[in-house]
Formats: sequence, structure tokens, C-alpha cells
Amino acid sequence: MNKTINRPFFQITKDGMLAAIDKMLQDYSVAALTEKNKNVVFDFVKSSAEISNVYKPTILSPKKFFFPQEEVILEYTAEGKVTAIIESKPMVLFGIRPCDINAKKVMDEAFAESNGDANYLSKIENSVIIGIDCKQVCDEDSFCYRVNSQEVTTGCDILLYDLGEKYIFEYKNEKGREFAIKYFGSQGSDHGAYDKFLKEKESNFGKTEGPFKDLEYLPGVFEHTKDHPIWEEEAKRCLSCGSCIMVCPTCYCFDVADELALNLKEGQRLRRWDACMLSDFANVATGESFRKEVSNRIRHRMNRKFNFLMRKHHQPACVGCGRCVRACLADISPKEIVEIITGEKERE
Ligand code: SF4
Ligand code: SF4
Repeated sequence: MNKTINRPFFQITKDGMLAAIDKMLQDYSVAALTEKNKNVVFDFVKSSAEISNVYKPTILSPKKFFFPQEEVILEYTAEGKVTAIIESKPMVLFGIRPCDINAKKVMDEAFAESNGDANYLSKIENSVIIGIDCKQVCDEDSFCYRVNSQEVTTGCDILLYDLGEKYIFEYKNEKGREFAIKYFGSQGSDHGAYDKFLKEKESNFGKTEGPFKDLEYLPGVFEHTKDHPIWEEEAKRCLSCGSCIMVCPTCYCFDVADELALNLKEGQRLRRWDACMLSDFANVATGESFRKEVSNRIRHRMNRKFNFLMRKHHQPACVGCGRCVRACLADISPKEIVEIITGEKERE
């Protein structure tokens, strides 16, 4: 674990940052926001020139770098030789936003449970996470401000604040400090600039609705919603396509499958993302399903976000990134569901 340190603020020009990224590329793979077919995606870059200056929410979150959609976890032979496969390389993730940093915190805790997940944890260990704070809400479907995930405490190694011509930055831990000294150089401090950024951020977010009513009590509120009519109402529209889960930065369920080579002499064990909104997710070997009804699956998904996992991780397991809202063809929104459940809003 990295030791958390105090909050000195330093500054670096935008050109200085681009030069620092090119320097990092000599030692690390660097993933950052890039433009692709009018969308922006987090992808590996070969040069700082490929990095997009414009932030728009991505379809998939940066969780894909640490928990890929499909991953070989072991290989075996008919003779009984079993080899664990752990792929991890030194990587810098540049430009991750507060919602995704908070989502990463949920993932980090989930994969560190019990004996820990070596595949996920080794990738995190080998990575340097550089976040960029948001000064305003990025998109009409984002609702970070309803779950307080526009605020960053931990979850990245360095946090940048964009001030137009330059960034100011702070280290979040010792790993971040050592990295910044090596790649950013000594650029001097600027506390006034941070205060200016913060004032503008507070003013912008102050114009939003703010956190959900009873945010910290949502687990208790959700306990009493088993028979709420909203589950049946949403179920009438839901297509059970699972898109909402595929794009979610905090969903970490996976399926494990063995794939045997045609020669029957060797094979691989893979894990792939799975989705609790799919109709066969809760099927068991005897043929029954624990969540056959769509309404049960929607209720389960929302309880994972605002009840079960919220109790466990001490933060909502929905960070309000809005990806599921954008992906859902049926217009189903966790924000709207919570607002109806807490009585903030009536069904239109
Ligand atoms: S994306 Fe929408 S329609 Fe598809 S499973 Fe999720 S809630 Fe249902
Ligand atoms: S539930 Fe939707 S809004 Fe919430 S974190 Fe997941 S994708 Fe983002």
C-alpha cells in the first residue's frame, strides 16, 4: 500500500506535460483519451500528440485495462501441468476522471478481498494512475454530483487540475511523488491556482441538484423496496440485453470457461465479463434460475449499486458516470430509479 502524504500543489505547463508523456513512453505503455470515429476512447498511444484535449465520456471505462473483457488466467496440459497466466506490464493511465477514479476504488477493494486477485492486482501494482479533476459536469446523462463522485480523495497516484495553459497537480501517495519527480521535474508550487480551480468547481457543481436525498441511508431505504412497483414498471421496458452492465465501471462479475485445444492435449481457462441483467446469469446446474423475472434482475442490479455493495465499500457502487443511461435502448436510468424510490420524483 502506498502511504498517503500531505497536499502540496505543483504546476506544469501543458507543453511540459506533453513532453513528460513522451518521456514516460520510453519506459511505460501509456493509455490516454484518444479520438476515434467522433468518439473518444481510452487507448494506448505512441506519442503525446495522439492525446485528445477534449473530454467526453467514453463508452467503456478504463477498467478494461485492469479487468479485460476476456483474459486467460491459466493454461494446462493433458499431463496435468498447470501454469497460472498473469499478464501485466508497466503502464501509465493518463487522464482518468473523478467518476472513474471512484469506480476504480470499488474495483480495487473488490479484487483485493480474501486472497486477492493476482491478475487484477498485478496490473494495478504495475500502473501509475494520473487523474484529471473535472471543473463541471461533462455530459447531460452524467450524475456524479448525485453520488458525490465528482470528489477525489484516493484512487489515483497523481491528480491534475486543468487551468487552461497549465496543470497544477498533487501527489496522492509516495508512488505518485516519485513518479512526478522523475517525469515532471521541479516546476514550483502554486496554491492560489488551486484555490481558483476549486472555487470555479464549487460554483459549477453548486448549480446542480446536489446529492440524492438521504444518500448515506440509501442501503436502508433499498431494504424496504422489495415490492416497489418500479421494478415491474421498468421490467416492461427492459430488453435484458446487458449493455448497462458491460459499460459500467464498477461491475466486476465474470464467468469462467475452459477451452480445450482441438488436439485435446492442452487447454486454457478464460474469464469473461458477465452481466446480471442477462436472463441466464443466475441459472444453476439443476436448471432453475434464481432471478428468472426481469423485475428481479433490475431490483438486484440496483441493490448492488445502492445497497449491498454500498454497505461493503462505504460509497455508492454507482458513480453516476451515466454510461448505462447512454447505452440503454429502453431509457432506464439508475438516477431516475433512485429519485422515485426516495420520493424525490414521481413517475412521469
Ligand atoms: S441496457 Fe437497458 S434494456 Fe439492456 S439490460 Fe440494461 S436496463 Fe435492460
Ligand atoms: S450504474 Fe450506470 S451510471 Fe452508475 S456507475 Fe454503472 S454505468 Fe455508471
